[in-house]
Order: sequence, then structure tokens, then C-alpha cells
Amino acid sequence: MVSNSPDRIRLHERSFTPFLTEEDISLRVKELGQELAFRLGNGEPSFLIMLRGAFIFAADLIRASRLNGQISFVRTSSYHGTETEGKVRMHLAPDPIHVTGKDVVLIEDIVDSGLTMQAFLPELEVLNPKSITLITLLHKPESQRVPVKIDLIGFVIPPKFVVGYGLDYDGLGRQLPAIYQLAEEF
Ligand code: 5GP
Repeated sequence: MVSNSPDRIRLHERSFTPFLTEEDISLRVKELGQELAFRLGNGEPSFLIMLRGAFIFAADLIRASRLNGQISFVRTSSYHGTETEGKVRMHLAPDPIHVTGKDVVLIEDIVDSGLTMQAFLPELEVLNPKSITLITLLHKPESQRVPVKIDLIGFVIPPKFVVGYGLDYDGLGRQLPAIYQLAEEF
């Protein structure tokens, strides 16, 4: 049950039911912030936020970590179709100033097949960061098709489509404070 939230929401033609409450998310994000601060010591990391899905998670995580550091953004989209799999289209590329020689904290909303990260991480590595810490709010291990080294995971979830807390369904639902799961169709 999500406090002050409906039992079922509709986005476009689909129904979604509560999955992770605001409280679940807030508690876990605080833990992740503390873990990140512990791992990075007194360092000043360079936070790299994957747009658009990770923007709300990143805002809460960075504040929870209490770490100083620069913040920048990246936007990619995956190619669809077998021939171009493993490539990523770069809409907003990482700025070398924020990567080269830095302890980069890459903040992602969800690792699903793993193809986005498999394609993007080499693009980051060629810029010679000092280190990369990959943190994702959600991970669907049952959907994963390629190996990805994830350093910190918020929630391991089943292979069902989710929305809210920054994640959208065809442009809708990013503003929802909780996370909802696609309802069973049958
Ligand atoms: P991957 O390349 O790992 O398959 O997927 C990465 C991207 O797919 C995520 O950054 C996200 O944009 C999108 N994605 C994967 N699963 C979901 C989901 O359940 N809900 C939403 N809203 N986006 C998803």
C-alpha cells in the first residue's frame, strides 16, 4: 500500500499498481548515500547522471551522501535491432573535464538487459577516469543479457516494467513519488 497514493494508476492505456513506496525508496536511498560516502571517503567525486530517468534518484542520492563534487549529465538512447545492438546513441556526451582523472560516480535509474551500460562504459573509459563507481536504483537480473559490473544496487526487482520516481512510460509518470509496476493484463 502506498500512503496517500492510489491503488491503481493509468498512464496512456496501461494500468500500474503500487510496487515500492515513497518510504521504501527514501530509506534505501539514504542507505545508498551513506554507503557511497563510506566508499569514497573524503574524496570529491564527479557525479555523472544518466538522463532522463535517473534525475530524481540522483538528486536524492547526492544529497543523502553529503559528498562534495561536481555534477554533470549524460543522455543516451539504445539502438533497437540486432545489427546495431551494443551501440549507444549519444545525445549528450560526457564532458572530458568531468571525467579525466576523476572518481566518477555514474548514476543510473535501472539496469535491465545491460546493453546500455555495456555500450556506454567503454565510451567513459576512453576518457581515462581515475575510477568509475556505477550505482543503479533498480536492477532486473532476470532480464540481463550481458554482464555489467554494478557497484551499488538499490533494489533487485523482477523483470516487469516499472514507472515513477523519474522513470516514465512513454513520457508519463516521472513525477510520481513512488514506483509502480505494470499490472497483469490477464
Ligand atoms: P538496458 O539497456 O539495461 O536494457 O536498459 C536501460 C534503460 O532502459 C533504462 O535506463 C531505462 O531507460 C529503460 N528501462 C528498462 N527497464 C525499464 C522499466 O521497467 N521501466 C522504465 N520506465 N524504463 C526501463
